[in-house]
Amino acid sequence: MSKPIHSITPFTLLDYPDKTACILWFAGCNMRCLYCYNPGIVEGKGKLSYADALRFLRKRKGLLDGVVLSGGECTLHKELVAFCAQLKKEGVLVKVDTNGSNPSLMADLMKNGLIDYVALDYKAPVYKYEAITQSSLYENFEATLRLLLNGVVPFEVRTTVHTSLLNEEDLQNMVDYLAEQKFKGKLFIQHFINDTITLGNLANTSNRIDPGKVSRSNCIGLVLRN
Ligand code: SF4
Repeated sequence: MSKPIHSITPFTLLDYPDKTACILWFAGCNMRCLYCYNPGIVEGKGKLSYADALRFLRKRKGLLDGVVLSGGECTLHKELVAFCAQLKKEGVLVKVDTNGSNPSLMADLMKNGLIDYVALDYKAPVYKYEAITQSSLYENFEATLRLLLNGVVPFEVRTTVHTSLLNEEDLQNMVDYLAEQKFKGKLFIQHFINDTITLGNLANTSNRIDPGKVSRSNCIGLVLRN
């Protein structure tokens, strides 16, 4: 039996806007972001099957509004479409956290009405994307963004900032890009949290970017999360 899920966080109030939820952490990822603080999930093996996750959810019926599918990169798992169909039958909301690398699976999920909210990582401007993510998946990210812009599923865009990797100029470039794409939502900025091992062995930093130095388009909210 396939075991795609590394672990479960049984309860969160922070990871699904305005909902109670659990988080399913999917093992494996097709990126190797230098700031990634989940090396155990990215490089580790899954320990739980879809059936295990459904059993967990059934025990908590009525306590959780939704399920967050995170990782690692959950959209690498082809059976995710069938699993989301089962989640919808269980009557829970489904949020997908994604690096945007699998637009075709996202299209399947959206076409079938299987997801209720998406958090899309915008890792870096195009000129730094490969260096930071150690992948060549920028075009996939763009395709996923276009899909979401043309769809009806509510979504947010988010960027993790480690100041040795991204600066205000980069952020300006990213805000301008989103404006060009006619994105009208919020770009959430979360600063890298210190005191944790990263894939790129980044040094700790307490530096912060100054969002006041980034001029925003009228239609983009730039929100600091920490
Ligand atoms: S931060 Fe990067 S490497 Fe880590 S799970 Fe997300 S996409 Fe994968």
